[in-house]
Amino acid sequence: MKAQLRLYQPTRQAMAQGRVPATLWARRESGVWVHASSYCLRGLEVTRAVWGATLGRSYVVITSVVDGRHTNPKSDHYLGNAWDIRKRDLRVPERRLALQRLREELGEGYYVIEERTHFHAAWRPQGPAAELGA
Ligand SMILES: [Zn+2]
Repeated sequence: MKAQLRLYQPTRQAMAQGRVPATLWARRESGVWVHASSYCLRGLEVTRAVWGATLGRSYVVITSVVDGRHTNPKSDHYLGNAWDIRKRDLRVPERRLALQRLREELGEGYYVIEERTHFHAAWRPQGPAAELGA
C-alpha cells in the first residue's frame, strides 16, 4: 500500500518572512486524503515562533507531518495531528530550552517528546499513548 504524498514545504525565505503553510500537508492513502488538522497547523505556527523568538532562528526544519513511516500504526501522524522537528542543528542547551518553550506555548492538549533525532509534537488531549512509536 503505497501512499501518495503531497507536501507543501515552505522555503527558508518564506519561513523568515513569517509566511507559514496555511495548508497543505496532506497524504492520500487507500483513496482517502488525510490533512494536517487545524491543531497541527497551529502547532507548526507555534513551533516557528518559538524557533524564531526563543532560539533566534530564521527557519525551523519540519521533517514529518502526515508523511513518513512511524512504528506505531496508531501514530498521531496518521491522524494529521503530529509533526516532527529536526534537532541536530541545535546545541544541547538550545534543545532543552526549545522543548520547554514549545510545551509552554502549545499549552494544554499538546505534548512534545524528545526522540533520538527529532522532537515529536502532537495534539492529543488525553496525553501520549503508552506505546509512542512517534
Ligand atoms: Zn513523530
